[in-house]
Amino acid sequence: MKPLGPIPSGYAMIDGELAIAGRTASALVAEAGRTPLFVYSGALIRRRVGELYAALPNRVALHYAMKANPYGPVLELMSELVDGFDVASAGELELALSAGVAAERISFAGPGKRTEELEAAIRAGATLNLESEGEAIRALEAGHRLGITPRLAIRVNPDFDLKGSGMKMGGGAKPFGVDAERVPAMAREVIASGAEWRGFHIFAGSQALNAEAIIDAQVQALALAADLSEQIDAPLPHCNLGGGFGIPYFPGDEAMDLAAVGAALGEALEAVPQVLKHTQFCVELGRYLVGEAGVYLTRIVDRKVSHGETFLVVDGGLHHQLAATGNFGTVVRRNYPVAIASRFDEPGDEEVSVVGCLCTPLDRLAEKGGFPRADVGDLVAVFCAGAYGASASPAQFLGHGPAAEMLV
Ligand SMILES: *Cc1c(COP(=O)(O)O)cnc(C)c1O
Repeated sequence: MKPLGPIPSGYAMIDGELAIAGRTASALVAEAGRTPLFVYSGALIRRRVGELYAALPNRVALHYAMKANPYGPVLELMSELVDGFDVASAGELELALSAGVAAERISFAGPGKRTEELEAAIRAGATLNLESEGEAIRALEAGHRLGITPRLAIRVNPDFDLKGSGMKMGGGAKPFGVDAERVPAMAREVIASGAEWRGFHIFAGSQALNAEAIIDAQVQALALAADLSEQIDAPLPHCNLGGGFGIPYFPGDEAMDLAAVGAALGEALEAVPQVLKHTQFCVELGRYLVGEAGVYLTRIVDRKVSHGETFLVVDGGLHHQLAATGNFGTVVRRNYPVAIASRFDEPGDEEVSVVGCLCTPLDRLAEKGGFPRADVGDLVAVFCAGAYGASASPAQFLGHGPAAEMLV
């Protein structure tokens, strides 16, 4: 048997079934009227946000990187809970505004912003995290055209990366941000142009579980911000320190030590030089806020045996949960946390593979895992489905259509 990933804490059992927010999986499916279904727990999202505010220094604001989960009710909840939103397209900007997030709380990063997107952000009053000199020129021109002072920050491509992170987004040649050595000249021009100078965005990577690596990246980001601000010779209004806090997905993964990260950041902020004394800081997190709060429920449609291997074929698959099948930025396929939701109390002594209903060998939700004996009609739960699930999977592929979603 191959091991399964760790089931996140906060899930319970009622009448032998997996329960989310006090309700059984089958009751939730009955309410939605169908499977596959993503269920997001508001209580688990609140719990996580509370842990972050308790651990992080008061001076550090919390932003939600909404590409992790742009489901409307999740955005509305998050709008009440966190300080700011990071969006990565005009479409996300629109969703954040409709969820009630004030534009002053929104920043917009992402390479290749079209001129219409720059205009939409300037019109709304959101901060643009500029990804290149060319984008700066187009943003300043758009501001003139509209007669609105744009709020501009520069995304810095740092000379370091986040060690051990799943997705590196800094260090070396990158499509993201402006190489650190060119930032001072660019910032001076942005300030001289009369734009509202909003500071830096320094994002070094994603999905790191090692607290030391995150601390190291944060300390380096602070040093870089101080160095660049001294070169620009202007105080820094705002600095987005990135995030990259990871969650355990796979066998052997251990939760990040949040208390250690918070304490180290507190110490590092005590020691910043004068030029950063009045800077507002934030971290921007996606999966850490919502990933473990989501479960994907899918029903077994067929049970079959081939050459001695048993397959449970479900009505969902990679078109909703691409990452769980190992096809979203992972090198080696390993099992996510997966369970039989309708037999949550039974021991997992049968070796089976759970596969999706797509006609491709890539569609494997769990390979040779140990599960209780399950049959047609049983519900399968794939955990860690709250981030990069519904919106990061090819829902149109093979024509089964999107999953239902529900915030409870
Ligand atoms: C994707 C992204 C995030 C969120 O990453 P997570 O791993 O979900 O926390 C934050 N900031 C930027 C700039 C991103 O591109």
